[in-house]
Amino acid sequence: MSDILSRHRQLCELLTEYGHQYYVLDNPTVPDAEYDRLMRELIALEAEHPELKTPASPSVRVGGQPLSAFSQVRHEIPMLSLDNVFSDEELQAFEQRMRDRLKRELNFTFCCEPKLDGLAVSLLYVDGQLVQAATRGDGTTGEEITDNVRTIKAIPLVLRGSGWPARLEVRGEVFMPKAGFEAMNAKALAAGEKVFVNPRNAAAGSLRQLDSRITASRPLSFYAYGVGVGGDELGNSHFARLTQLNAWGLPLSPEVKLKEGAAGCQAFHDDILARRGELPYEIDGVVYKVDDIALQQELGFVARAPRWATAHKFPAEEEMTLLENVEFQV
Ligand code: NAD
Repeated sequence: MSDILSRHRQLCELLTEYGHQYYVLDNPTVPDAEYDRLMRELIALEAEHPELKTPASPSVRVGGQPLSAFSQVRHEIPMLSLDNVFSDEELQAFEQRMRDRLKRELNFTFCCEPKLDGLAVSLLYVDGQLVQAATRGDGTTGEEITDNVRTIKAIPLVLRGSGWPARLEVRGEVFMPKAGFEAMNAKALAAGEKVFVNPRNAAAGSLRQLDSRITASRPLSFYAYGVGVGGDELGNSHFARLTQLNAWGLPLSPEVKLKEGAAGCQAFHDDILARRGELPYEIDGVVYKVDDIALQQELGFVARAPRWATAHKFPAEEEMTLLENVEFQV
């Protein structure tokens, strides 16, 4: 038992430190695949020994503490993470778990979306005007980044059309398209400046700047993937909500599709994985969400993630490489 305790402590310490470097400092020190491996080991250990699981465990926490240099925004509805599946079997088990929980033999319709590798943001529109933008932070409290977000041309400052809720919170991912990332790094290299380690890190580092002129100079983009506050006033289909956001001027990935059951999800996954290299932005998997909002509400949440959604992760594309004589930017 002392071996188990000490391995548990070690995993918690490692994951807490790697999480701090990644979420708070935008400066990952290990490859995502390594972080994921350790996290799965921790989750498996805690499943076998539930007494080890505490509210401070990295397995139940979302993201990292907001940086104190920013004002803080308390999320009215928490911004959670996503559980993962890595195989067809795990995908089917995800679907079966939901049926077991709902105690009925349902055929689920899923909204299938690319899992963009950027930074989650919350955008608050009041009477159709963008009034506040925040990072996810630790899920409860995020960083106020309104001025920075206003510089991202893909994000409307004023909604189009009419009929939106008086207070509408749009959630989505700010990301850096591959072409912009490569051009920016090439320019930085030529000028002997620091380069970014990957587009995710570049997007996060560009958005969490104290000087919004720096953010404005970075090639950032945005896709919406959900609604927080104001969702109750929209329809009962997640996909229809996204389509509505799109009609109000918010960018929506053209890849987002409705699919039937785990088999439909698997086909969506295989198609996107085959086209991964051609997509103009980096993705680290796809996300499946039960489309019916009433079922989502019935299924609810566990500590850090909804029960009605999961990410289907792609195999790691690259292990982290450190280039000699190149200083990375954070
Ligand atoms: P996650 O990235 O696995 O999933 C949640 C996030 O997915 C959301 O916050 C959102 O930003 C994003 N997302 C993208 N497309 C989405 C969509 N269509 N719908 C909903 N969300 C979407 O969760 P996480 O807890 O933020 O991060 C965990 C991952 O981060 C790990 O799997 C690991 O790979 C990486 N990580 C790496 C290190 C490291 O040191 N390398 C450290 C911590 C975390």
